[in-house]
Amino acid sequence: MIEVGIAMLQGARREHIISLQNAAQNLDIDVNIRQLRKSSDIDGINALILPGGESTAMKIASKNEDLLNGLWKYISDSNIPVLGTCAGAILLSQQGLISTSIVRNAFGRQKESFQSKIRIDYPQEDEFNGVFIRAPRFLEGSKNPIAWLGEEVVGVLEGKKMALTFHPELTNDYRFHEWLLNEVMEYNSN
Ligand code: GLN
Repeated sequence: MIEVGIAMLQGARREHIISLQNAAQNLDIDVNIRQLRKSSDIDGINALILPGGESTAMKIASKNEDLLNGLWKYISDSNIPVLGTCAGAILLSQQGLISTSIVRNAFGRQKESFQSKIRIDYPQEDEFNGVFIRAPRFLEGSKNPIAWLGEEVVGVLEGKKMALTFHPELTNDYRFHEWLLNEVMEYNSN
């Protein structure tokens, strides 16, 4: 049984749970989704999702229970795969868990949120429906881009950390959630 933790601080959490359940069904594996609210919830997770939302609000929400600090420590100790979407990608970058730097709200305000076809090359070259909500922007080219909006990189995969500036959990396409589960399966079978 794979234990996947979702940081329940703020933002689009339920959608990630549904996407994960669908990904698990597609891959025919048993997954227990653990809703992380405090640092004592973390121990034993095999993978983590950091949802989108508002990264500053997440940090404030985390203060009481110290969830984020607990997660950063757990990630560095155990090197579990992590999927960070939008604000989650911001946290990964700010924490130095990916080397690509990022700037918040780089496309403008809420009304500048948009959907667009993007190009991905994970798991193979294809299109994806990119949903961008007050999205951040990667500042410089990553050595490991996996998604592009036109020429611009909107997703990176650095080791076991995937950071996307769009929201795959708001689509019915579960390939990025499947990536997370496949990473765990691969590690466990070695
Ligand atoms: N604008 C948000 C932030 O700066 C990110 C937006 C999102 O996660 N949809 O944290």
